[in-house]
Amino acid sequence: MRFLITAGPTREPIDPVRFISNGSSGKMGYAIATAAAAAGHGVTLISGPVCLAAPADVEMERVVTADEMCVRVLACLGAADVLVMCAAVADFKPRTRYTSKIKKAAGFSAIEVEPTPDILCLIADLERRPLTVGFAAETEAFENNARQKLLAKNCDLMIANDARQAIDSDENELILLFRNGEVRALPRAPKTALADELVKIFSHLAEKR
Ligand code: C5P
Repeated sequence: MRFLITAGPTREPIDPVRFISNGSSGKMGYAIATAAAAAGHGVTLISGPVCLAAPADVEMERVVTADEMCVRVLACLGAADVLVMCAAVADFKPRTRYTSKIKKAAGFSAIEVEPTPDILCLIADLERRPLTVGFAAETEAFENNARQKLLAKNCDLMIANDARQAIDSDENELILLFRNGEVRALPRAPKTALADELVKIFSHLAEKR
C-alpha cells in the first residue's frame, strides 16, 4: 500500500526573515511515516520546516509554504492509497511578501492576510481519492469541532487531539472519529506507539474500500 503523509508546520513569509506559522514539531507525522515504512508500505512524506531527520525508507519532499504543500500533495495524490494530513497548515498568509527586511525604525503596525488553500477541501471534491485522514488540533470541544471538520473536509477519518498537550510532546492522546459515527479513544502513549496502531487502522480501512 502507498501512504502519502504531510507533517510539520508551514511558514508564510512576511519578509525574508519573518513569517506566520503554527506550532508543530512534526513528531506525529514523522512517527506515522516511520511506522508505515516499517510495516512494509511505500511512503512519501511531505514535510514543512522541522528539526527532525528523514525517516528510513521514506521518500522525502520538503516544502515551506501552504501553497507549496498543496502543489506537492496534489501531484503525489494519484499514486496514494492512504493520505494522512498530519501537517499544521497555516490558515492565512500575508497578502504582501516583502522582498527586503522591514526595518524596525520604519514601523509596522498590521499584516494584511488572505486564506491559504485548504488542501483537504480541494481533495474532498475529487471523484477518486485515497482513504483520507485529517488531524484536528483543538483546545476545547474536541469531539464536536473534529466532527464538523470530518464532514466539512469530507474525510474518512478525523483524529482530534489537544493542541496544548500535543505540540512538541513525545506523547499524545487521540480521539478517532470515523465516517460511520464510530468514536474510538487512544489513551496517552508515546507518539511512536500510537503511530503503529494508527497505521494498522488506516491500512485495514483502506483494504475494506
Ligand atoms: O487547520 P484545521 O484544524 O482546519 O486542520 C484540519 C485538517 O485540515 C488537518 O488535517 C490539516 O492538515 C488540514 N488542512 C489543510 N489545509 C489547510 C488547513 C488545514 O489541508 N489550509
